[in-house]
Amino acid sequence: MDRDRLHNRTAVVTGGSRGIGRAVAERFVAEGAVVAINHPGDEQAAEATLAALHAIDAAAGRNRRDHLAIKADVADEHAVAAMVRQAVGQWGRLDCMVCNAGIQSVTQGHDFDAATFQRILDVNLNGAAYCAREAIAHFLTREGGGSVIATSSVHQLIPKPTYLAYAASKGALGQMVRTLALEYADRGIRVNAVAPGAVTTDINAAWIDDPKARADVERHIPMGFAADAAQIAPLYAFLASQEAVYVTGQTLYACGGLTLYGEFKQNWSS
Ligand code: NAD
Repeated sequence: MDRDRLHNRTAVVTGGSRGIGRAVAERFVAEGAVVAINHPGDEQAAEATLAALHAIDAAAGRNRRDHLAIKADVADEHAVAAMVRQAVGQWGRLDCMVCNAGIQSVTQGHDFDAATFQRILDVNLNGAAYCAREAIAHFLTREGGGSVIATSSVHQLIPKPTYLAYAASKGALGQMVRTLALEYADRGIRVNAVAPGAVTTDINAAWIDDPKARADVERHIPMGFAADAAQIAPLYAFLASQEAVYVTGQTLYACGGLTLYGEFKQNWSS
């Protein structure tokens, strides 16, 4: 790891108090960035994460306490605008927006609850769009461009029966990333996505601590294991860094081979 790759870069990470968002915030700070972790009201987890970020700095000999925890529902466009104003007001500039907040729920195709369906789109898709909008509007006010990174999912590509709203939100997120990437490519603004497969976070509480259920999940993953969030986070640091200066409009799948059509490993079709 390059401890200076993100030296003094500034980033907001939505849904940053736990799971993949927390791992991304920790990785960014380990590489020298200053980070605001956004959360929807999860004060205790946010405080614990903030303390972890300051501890990473202390261990690296960095004497600063610039990281922020910002409460905001990403589905509320005014709250998102206020969050970006707060970060820019504190640091003077924002370099990277990580649109990571996400929720899921069973929403069957023949019988879904409209309010639940809408809420999933509001958080996963509209929320990411509001965050991207506010970050890009800021990037355009100054020199140097910026980076937007969305957390998508393998379900951007792979259908997810009984999770209709979730799969639709991630599919749309992929096209949001490509559209914004093209719209702003000539102004130094890069827009990309990371698409994880199975990661051992709260969103997967149904199976991560149940050995049989977990084995059932991992059986489907060509590499044979569900990832820890820290194994996904380096991709975000790469996309936020100057090393990705020529990368835009891409979705990087970090999924242990889930998108490789594992059923085809042994030939059965000819
Ligand atoms: P998680 O449940 O631990 O994290 C979700 C985060 O989103 C939490 O920090 C939560 O507080 C935040 N959040 C939820 N609603 C919000 C709102 N309205 N406003 C602001 N923040 C809100 O699970 P995770 O796995 O860390 O999920 C992070 C992202 O990764 C999600 O977008 C999820 O769809 C995606 N993802 C996860 C996996 C996986 O296997 N864990 C796979 C693919 C994609």
